[in-house]
Amino acid sequence: MSYDDNNIFAKILRGEIPCKKIYEDDFVLSFYDINPQKKIHALVIPKGKYVDLDDFSQKASSEEMVGLLKGINTVAKKLGISVDVGKGYRALVNINEDGGQEVPHLHFHLFGGEKVGKMVSWILKLKEIF
Ligand code: AMP
Repeated sequence: MSYDDNNIFAKILRGEIPCKKIYEDDFVLSFYDINPQKKIHALVIPKGKYVDLDDFSQKASSEEMVGLLKGINTVAKKLGISVDVGKGYRALVNINEDGGQEVPHLHFHLFGGEKVGKMVSWILKLKEIF
């Protein structure tokens, strides 16, 4: 899939749409998700035009890759959910339609501020029900 310059995160990056910014540097922008699923629900996106994680893994420079990972850690620290303060969080990436991705600009979801639960056990429970 080619990158769509009109996706909502591209517009946020260009400043055409507002966001509740948490952090920004040369490589990433982080802001709060508009529809939070946990007490803390942040998004971290690379500044480069990457559709999804596969696209990023294939095309991004080493500098961009390091920048994104360091950006995630910096955001977790800023939000007070990092391991070094005894907390933790879930980092999640949806990839393409089968993976549940809606916005076609790579983004990491960071869920925290509470115990986020065991994702795998939820899936097993759903399988029991259906
Ligand atoms: P995904 O399903 O992984 O593509 O997630 C897209 C996420 O973007 C969802 O959690 C949305 O709530 C979130 N989202 C969509 N529009 C905005 C926006 N304008 N500002 C912040 N978050 C948004």
